[in-house]
Amino acid sequence: NSFQNFNLNPNLIKSLNVLNYNVPTPIQSLVIPALLNHRDLVIKSKTGSGKTAAFSIPIIQHIKWDKREPQVLVLTPTRELAIQVKEDMFNIGRFSRIKVEAVYGKSSYESQAKQLKQRTHVIVSTPGRLIDHIVNKTVDLSHISALVIDEADELLRMGFIDEVERIIHFLPLKRLTILLSATMPTDIEKLSNLYMNNPELIVI
Ligand code: AMP
Repeated sequence: NSFQNFNLNPNLIKSLNVLNYNVPTPIQSLVIPALLNHRDLVIKSKTGSGKTAAFSIPIIQHIKWDKREPQVLVLTPTRELAIQVKEDMFNIGRFSRIKVEAVYGKSSYESQAKQLKQRTHVIVSTPGRLIDHIVNKTVDLSHISALVIDEADELLRMGFIDEVERIIHFLPLKRLTILLSATMPTDIEKLSNLYMNNPELIVI
């Protein structure tokens, strides 16, 4: 049981070594091969399971470095989680030279808009601030090929589901969608039925 079994590119293997991720966690063993095969996933698991690396590793492997427009969007309920996911993805994508930007409220809109104009592969964002950038056209979501909805039950609890749906309507239909949640309330099931393509359910 090792990351060597997944056909990951050498830059990813190198960063996993630096992070001391020697053995995939159970969720990683299930999620990495499914996402490398472009399968939509609903993942029911808690924090501490290694869920961030589980989606980040295969997503980073798919990123086309040369493309100028953002390719991956991760939606999170809180600014703290956005920053955490950004750091994890930066560390995992370090040797692949992946650029990750976090976008969230109560922080300078202008400096985020400026960052988003540079080459950015991954945007990690809370819903409200991302909608501001969409409305003001300071973000281009027309090339997003992977959407991650992280802590979906928290997004629901905090009243962000309408904003999540609004954002999804700006994304290309042809994309990979991954939804993570510790619990599966009906509204989250509805969201996955509406916006995901025959997702596989992974329960850890
Ligand atoms: P998460 O569930 O994404 O919040 O991750 C929980 C913690 O596990 C984080 O501190 C990660 O850095 C760490 N982690 C993730 N995957 C591995 C792994 N394969 N081996 C060791 N630690 C890991």
